[in-house]
Amino acid sequence: MKTQNRPTIALVATGGTIASVPDAHLKGAVPTLTVEDLVASVPGVGDHADITCVQQAQKPSVELDFPDLTALIATCLKAVEAGASGVVITQGTDTIEETSYALDLLWDRPEPIAVTGAMRNPSLAGSDGPANLLAAVQVAANPSARDRGVLVVLNDEIHTARDVIKTHTSSISAFRSWRTGPIGTVDEGEPRFHTSTLRRLGINAPVRSIPRIALVTAVLGDGMSYVEALPDWGYEGVVIEAFGGGHLRSEGMPVMRELVQRIPVVLASRTGAGTVLSRTYAFPGSETELLQAGLISAGSLHPLKARVLLTMLIASGADQTAIRREFSART
Ligand code: ASP
Repeated sequence: MKTQNRPTIALVATGGTIASVPDAHLKGAVPTLTVEDLVASVPGVGDHADITCVQQAQKPSVELDFPDLTALIATCLKAVEAGASGVVITQGTDTIEETSYALDLLWDRPEPIAVTGAMRNPSLAGSDGPANLLAAVQVAANPSARDRGVLVVLNDEIHTARDVIKTHTSSISAFRSWRTGPIGTVDEGEPRFHTSTLRRLGINAPVRSIPRIALVTAVLGDGMSYVEALPDWGYEGVVIEAFGGGHLRSEGMPVMRELVQRIPVVLASRTGAGTVLSRTYAFPGSETELLQAGLISAGSLHPLKARVLLTMLIASGADQTAIRREFSART
C-alpha cells in the first residue's frame, strides 16, 4: 500500500553480479536473484521510498543490447507515468558505461534514473550490492537528482552517464569520471551534488534498425588498412581510437580518405581522457590532417561513448551533417 509523503521508486532489475550467486554445477556465479530478492537484501530500503519491482531481464550485462535499452526506456516511462518519482536500474557493471549513456541520450524526463550494480557478488565478503542499491534508491528518491538525466551510482559516488568509465576488473572503486570526477556523493544516506544541473543533450528515438558501428584501436606499427573492409562487412560507421591527441600512422591516410566517403568515421583518442586535438600538429596522420580529411572529432567523449552516440544518431535517422553537428555540440 502507498505510504503518504514517501516517493515511489521503480526498481528495474536486469541481472549482473548484483544478482549473481554461485552455481554449484557451473562452478561460478550466474545471475539468479530476483528483483524481490534484491529488495529483501537491503535492510531499510523501504524507509526511503515505496519500491515497485520490475524484473526486466536476468542476464550478464554483456548480453544487453540496444533493443534492451529502448525496452528499458519504455519501462521507465511507464513507471514515471504511473507516479514513480525516480527509477533505479540494476545491471552488470561490465557495460554500465555504455548502457547508461545510451539511456541518457533517450531519457528526456525530469525524473532521475540511477543505474547501479555490484563488483562483488552477494556470496563474497564485503559484497557491495546492497549498499549500492540503497544509495541508488536514495539518489533516485531525492528531488536534487531531478533534471540530471541518467546517473550511475556505485561506491557512494554519483557519476554522469556521459563521463563514467569502468576502470578496474574487480575493485569496488572501479568507476571513474576522468573529465569531471563524480558529480556527487552519498553521505550518511544523503545525496550531495557538487554541481548544478548541466545542460542535457538528448537525441531522437530510433526510427530504424540499430546499425553496426565498429570501434578500432590504433596500435604501434599498424597502418590499419583493414578498416577499408568495414563497409563490406556491414558496418555503417566506425570510431577510431587514435594515438594520443588524435594521430594515426601516415600510411593509414589513403584508407581513411576513402573510408570517410562511405561511412562516418569518428576520431577519438585511445588515451581515454582529454579532448581530441584540432590544431596542434601538422605531420602526415596528425589530427589536423585527419579532421581535414573529413573525420569527425569525438571531442572529449571517451571512445566507448562516441560509439554509443554514433550508433544512436544513425538509428535516429541522422545524416552526416547532423552527426557532425551533434558531435560538435558535445565536445
Ligand atoms: N559479469 C557481470 C556483468 O553482468 C559483471 C558485473 O556485474 O560486475 O556485467
